[in-house]
Amino acid sequence: MSQARTIAQALLAKLLTRETIVALAFVVMLIIFEALTLTVSFRSYITKLEQREYVIGLGGFFVVFISWTWAIFFFRASLTSNYGTRVFCFLLFVVAVFFEYGYQNAFGRFSTVEDLRIALFDATNEQRRNSIIVYADWRAAIPCVAYAILLLRFRTRRRHSWKTLGIGLVGLACFLSLISPYTSGQFPTISLDAFLRTAILSPWKWASAYHGPRNAVNFSSPRRPQNNIVFVVDESIRGDHLGINGYNRATTPYLDELLAKGWLYNWGIAASGGTCSEKSDSLLFTGMTLGELPDTTFQMRRLPNIFQYAKAMGYRTHFLDGQKDTYWLGTSYDKQYIDDWQPAPSFAVANDFDIDTVIARRISEVVNGSTGHFIWVIKRGVHYPYVTTFPITTAAEWQPSDAAETEIDPARREQLINTYDNAVKYNLESFFRALAVSEWRNQNLLVYTSDHGQTLSEHGERYTHCGTSMETAPTEANVPLFIISRESLSVDNQFRASHANLFATLLDLMMFPKSERQHQYAISLLEAKAGDSRPRHFWVGDLYEKAFNGRLLFDQ
Ligand SMILES: [Zn+2]
Repeated sequence: MSQARTIAQALLAKLLTRETIVALAFVVMLIIFEALTLTVSFRSYITKLEQREYVIGLGGFFVVFISWTWAIFFFRASLTSNYGTRVFCFLLFVVAVFFEYGYQNAFGRFSTVEDLRIALFDATNEQRRNSIIVYADWRAAIPCVAYAILLLRFRTRRRHSWKTLGIGLVGLACFLSLISPYTSGQFPTISLDAFLRTAILSPWKWASAYHGPRNAVNFSSPRRPQNNIVFVVDESIRGDHLGINGYNRATTPYLDELLAKGWLYNWGIAASGGTCSEKSDSLLFTGMTLGELPDTTFQMRRLPNIFQYAKAMGYRTHFLDGQKDTYWLGTSYDKQYIDDWQPAPSFAVANDFDIDTVIARRISEVVNGSTGHFIWVIKRGVHYPYVTTFPITTAAEWQPSDAAETEIDPARREQLINTYDNAVKYNLESFFRALAVSEWRNQNLLVYTSDHGQTLSEHGERYTHCGTSMETAPTEANVPLFIISRESLSVDNQFRASHANLFATLLDLMMFPKSERQHQYAISLLEAKAGDSRPRHFWVGDLYEKAFNGRLLFDQ
């Protein structure tokens, strides 16, 4: 008995070293500091316990406990390790903390697997640079300095070095890999763990996705198409800031003219699929509806894309991308369906804010030359920072307008809105005037919307879109939707439209036979009547992740 007690005492003495106590205290202080400065909530687990869903609730707390315990192990190991290991631990901590505080600053949450994919593969260098400048949170320096002081106060020893650290990282990787099917990677923890979580879960989430070719469209039209179809997806244009939608500022004089001539069929304010470009574009590309989300069987990567349908109808397909220099829409199989891919560098112009004008001229050349073209356009639009999207010296109609905005300051909200409206007006006027609709020679149909709307600091937000809260997200899903056609269309624009209606609309404009369609798509705008309107929704969750239902109501 006394021997057992001696062993227990010896074990306790070994564990309760000065390093362990300091590591424990550091983790506790980190938890408190981040609870006060960041958005870290245990609410969902408490709700689960209240709803008597003990497995999910307690399981969640267990995962949080493991991640905290792991952090104590990490800091303890680093305090007693050799010089090289310490430098590595410190650099890992700095990268993790700045990365996660940046996402917290931007979106009020830690990074996700999807964020990492977008940051690595989908974003342009310009977007990466801007995001770092806009969202860097210098409060992240506080824990970094505290950690540096701790490391300097402990003598370097050889006892714990690469081997211990390696075992710790492998252990964390094994644990997160085991739970990867059951987590969306958003459990509350500290920033270091959140960063490692995103890094470790990413390959698992990517590996479990479908990576094969899309379903084929087994139809081939015997006739050549007699029209041209242009589908324009704008960037960050909020529906209720357009003059044609009743905004109190005349942001769209040229579109007003088209409306007066009867050439513009306006559905007013529509609901976008998502509040982030990538989500909305994926939904538009395949015609998937929100009722089919989360997409746990990867239909988004299996259903035919719009280019496949266009090619089946004999269209020459074009993809004009005003934002990116590499191909990114859909999967790696999708580029083969595009006959003419024109990335952002092919619209090079003296000022980047005139890229959309160059795109409009390019569209005019194609559609006035011949019929049989299907063109998908990703406009450059007015992505934040707005000052880079219009000439501030000549087009700042609403004042005061920011001249050099580097971050969103809710205290200067009026300036933010003025700058945004100046950007919207310059961009839409220059783009649509360059399309020269009155000079169109063929039957051209242009379907227009934006990928998402915008939050303009309504509740003190420092981000502009990709939000998930019910409070702000509806303005981020608020997008314009209209068709420009000089031939008359018989439509009922009292129907409350969403992005979901656009896929079937494009198929109808191509005259793709209904019986040959591969999927049950939402109703086309050429068919929908006011009475078909239903409460509209949009998606803020992960497209593929079942752990989180991300459907929010748009019509309040
Ligand atoms: Zn966007």
